[in-house]
Amino acid sequence: MSTTLAQILDGKQLSAQVRAQIGEQIQAGMGAGKARPGLATVLVGDDPASHIYVRNKRRACDETGMQNFHIELAEDVGQAALLQQIVELNLNPEVHGILVQLPLPKGFDYDENQVLATIDPAKDADGFHPANQGALMQGTPAPIPCTPKGVMQLLAESGMELKGKRAVVVGRSNIVGKPVALLLLEQHCTVTICHSRTTDLAAEVANADVVVAAVGVAELVKGAWIKPGAVVLDVGINRNADGKLVGDVEFGPAAARAGWITPVPGGVGPMTIAMLLQNTLEAAWRD
Ligand code: NAD
Repeated sequence: MSTTLAQILDGKQLSAQVRAQIGEQIQAGMGAGKARPGLATVLVGDDPASHIYVRNKRRACDETGMQNFHIELAEDVGQAALLQQIVELNLNPEVHGILVQLPLPKGFDYDENQVLATIDPAKDADGFHPANQGALMQGTPAPIPCTPKGVMQLLAESGMELKGKRAVVVGRSNIVGKPVALLLLEQHCTVTICHSRTTDLAAEVANADVVVAAVGVAELVKGAWIKPGAVVLDVGINRNADGKLVGDVEFGPAAARAGWITPVPGGVGPMTIAMLLQNTLEAAWRD
């Protein structure tokens, strides 16, 4: 059995703090005459996991005093009606953030990229609009995708000076891997992005002062690969063979070598919702 030496980066606790702060900001801002921030959640179809994710997001809105406009559409509503719905939300002055829960139902010809591009970039609570992704690449201010933003806030909790450090991001998706890599680059890390065709993942990870795993393969990143003292941020949410919720990193052995590590559950996951609220608040009160 490995002993846990790493300090835990507790996303549940940090997320609760951030949400409490957002609640206080909303109360104070509204007291000073600002508009109540509003988030629209759009859910298409009956996917049970998507329903749970959206329910948690709506609950977080209620808890902070943010208004929630919830729209549920049948799985076969079609691209045109979905786009029309987004256009209406774009025009609604009480809606400051818009989230379309992904993935859209399979087998119905939805074009996710077109859906994301139809959201007003100023109301893009998820930061997935191509203009906002471009702004992230240029390093100009724009809504930042929620999970990568949460990863960076957890990383900041470690107190590690990032300038010049080697960071390895495992996974190159548009919603996690690529934006995390850009944010690490902005913090002056030397960044390597690994993916399914990387030839020696173990060697890449072994060099890293910061490891971000965003793959979706249970315990792919072995504890023995972790450089002693590294910060390990595990984005993955998977079920292992026993049905237990695990990350992309082998937690016990990794925690025996790392300096800081996020658990699954209770690490990156809770931060995603907190960052969604933060993006919506910023959109509502942007000058
Ligand atoms: P994705 O499927 O879009 O991307 C996975 C990436 O992993 C791909 O770029 C692929 O090249 C890479 N990959 C696949 N097999 C690999 C291998 N053997 N070695 C190295 N790289 C490999 O996934 P995603 O949407 O980025 O999500 C990744 C994980 O993070 C999933 O488990 C997902 O559930 C989780 N996730 C969590 C949150 C959260 O809030 N905590 C948010 C988004 C995603």
